[in-house]
Amino acid sequence: MSKIRKSVFELEEYIPGEQPNDDAIKLNTNENPYLPSPEVLDILREIDISDLSLYPDPNCLELRKVIADLHQCSIDQIFVGNGSDEILALAIRAYVERDSKVGYLAPSYSLYSVLTEIEDIEHEVVFLDDGFNFKIPENLDSSLFLLANPNAPTGIFMDVESINCFADNYKGVLLIDEAYVDFAEDNCLDLAFKHSNVIITRSLSKSYSLAGIRCGYCVGSADLINALYKIKDSYNVNYITQELARVALLDQATMRANVEAIKETRNLVFEKLTDLGYEVYESQTNFLWFKPLGIKAAKLFELLKERNIYIRYFSASSRTDDYLRVTIGTASEMFTFLDALDEIINSES
Ligand SMILES: *Cc1c(COP(=O)(O)O)cnc(C)c1O
Repeated sequence: MSKIRKSVFELEEYIPGEQPNDDAIKLNTNENPYLPSPEVLDILREIDISDLSLYPDPNCLELRKVIADLHQCSIDQIFVGNGSDEILALAIRAYVERDSKVGYLAPSYSLYSVLTEIEDIEHEVVFLDDGFNFKIPENLDSSLFLLANPNAPTGIFMDVESINCFADNYKGVLLIDEAYVDFAEDNCLDLAFKHSNVIITRSLSKSYSLAGIRCGYCVGSADLINALYKIKDSYNVNYITQELARVALLDQATMRANVEAIKETRNLVFEKLTDLGYEVYESQTNFLWFKPLGIKAAKLFELLKERNIYIRYFSASSRTDDYLRVTIGTASEMFTFLDALDEIINSES
């Protein structure tokens, strides 16, 4: 008999995008190609080494004050995690009974199903239609629904009013994962204040160019937030991360400028891919979801990789295996990507 718990032994773990360590063009994990706020470097240089021998603030008070100020709410409505991924895992543990279910869309962020399986909890899957859209599901019996908006890997934004109705009809906790929301035209923050069953998560990994420090936070009613504090690791967010995240969030201008640059490049790449006859989805994120024409997605993925350009291919489901996802890098990286596409198309035909 296995020494490993059954749900873990049988688990198909989450596989993050590859991190090639040479000079590859990396357009596969939705990282931001631009530098974070210059304040981050300043504070990093000023960190007193003797502070590292002490445990960090378990409650992230200074950081939460900055976030509460940013969103005009009280610090009891804010939880900070070691990346928003940690918050997703804690939410399942805090809000879902063993014999209940976790709901999510498919396709969506594939970590949702993995986290659910780790906890040995049942899934309630809501499938998107052929255009990757969904109607508000009714009569769900899960106690937690994980909803990425904008969705990943499609980049599609669902309008706030529809999600407002979803929250009204849903009996459980609706967690709106806004990892990409700074690239979108709108957001669901107000729903977290309006509905006692809504929590929204944000991340510093994408728009703030800080995937390496692991910081995410969520906003919701004090009750929901307090439950997360009860079960988290005592020191879940390290001292350096708390310091760097604080100054990065105070500098909204740098984040906004980087986001604008990425959106401009995104529009240009959207046009180019559309001109090739590819089916490209309107994105409100820092990536594009597309179906190539005249070449299989899997093949195009491999041929780009041979040219040291990494994008993302989701082979696991028949719903996604004709599509590819490309992160928007710098304009220069994207020209290299587009040139490689041209070259591949010409050599294939
Ligand atoms: C990147 C991503 C996250 C993870 O964010 P971290 O803060 O880096 O943990 C969460 N949800 C979605 C949909 C993502 O794409």
